[in-house]
Amino acid sequence: MSADIIDGKAFAGDLRARVAEKVAAFRAAADRAPGLAVVLVGEDPASQVYVRSKHKATIEAGMESFEHRLPDTTTQDELLAVVRRLNTDDSVDGILVQLPLPPQIDENVVIATIDPDKDVDGFHVVNAGRLAVGQHGYVPCTPLGCLMLLKDRLGDLSGLDAVVIGRSNIVGKPMAQLLLGESCTVTIAHSRTRDLPDVVKRADIVVAAVGRPEMIRGDWIKPGATVIDVGINRVPGAEPGKTKLVGDVDFAAASQVAGAITPVPGGVGPMTIAVLLRNTLVAAHRRAGVPYAKGSI
Ligand code: NAD
Repeated sequence: MSADIIDGKAFAGDLRARVAEKVAAFRAAADRAPGLAVVLVGEDPASQVYVRSKHKATIEAGMESFEHRLPDTTTQDELLAVVRRLNTDDSVDGILVQLPLPPQIDENVVIATIDPDKDVDGFHVVNAGRLAVGQHGYVPCTPLGCLMLLKDRLGDLSGLDAVVIGRSNIVGKPMAQLLLGESCTVTIAHSRTRDLPDVVKRADIVVAAVGRPEMIRGDWIKPGATVIDVGINRVPGAEPGKTKLVGDVDFAAASQVAGAITPVPGGVGPMTIAVLLRNTLVAAHRRAGVPYAKGSI
């Protein structure tokens, strides 16, 4: 069997187009654009690429993009002052502080300082708590993007066996909460899990968020399962000196067994920014008191 490839790039493009349409309607209703502020501290090359992509996508969606670039010598108090200013700035609906932060800054303190109602990354403990108890809040973008791909592929997820490999606060834990919210039977596997192949073999849905290249083997996958590969790992390429991106799943082997699978790149990756725009759009509606048709995106 050869799996269907889940085209996250196309799905994300479609989501961004739908967000842009709703931004236009919001602008007409509220007489302003939704605004996303992104704060980057330091010169981390990967973070610079992410921040550039977020800025471009925000503008393309018709939103306002506010970029704050601070030197890597910035103190925690200086960064907190920027965050507090953004909290009270009415033109800012969403605040994102790009991680990782330099070592002199405690990221937990920074995240805790963001107004939870502007926390479009969904990292604040208030939003983690809202997700845990099933209240409306902001859900981290990558796992919410994974859930959108799963629902698009499978429709009703209720009763399915789901295994999430990885228990980070950014991907693994919120992913598991979302799947539980869809009435899946959820297992969270992690570095201490015994007999991971056996755990994965039971799953109708596998979400891999480990950060280890091609660790999930093809023969661990239950035939017909849906596999979502969150991993982004840079490994040596075929040509000397060149690198390539691979996921946490052995794609070549798993795609012979799975019913559907996301590729890397072009699967989960493009969903993150699209969902960030969607979360910012929702934040703008809530803050401006403009009704947002839930379920439309
Ligand atoms: P993390 O390092 O915070 O967490 C990794 C998790 O994997 C940990 O909970 C750990 O327990 C588990 N783990 C480690 N070794 C394991 C093993 N041998 N067996 C089972 N579990 C093991 O990573 P993260 O931030 O959750 O990211 C995971 C991956 O997803 C990374 O490759 C990252 O680059 C990628 N990622 C992609 C996106 C995106 O597509 N936009 C966003 C976030 C993260």
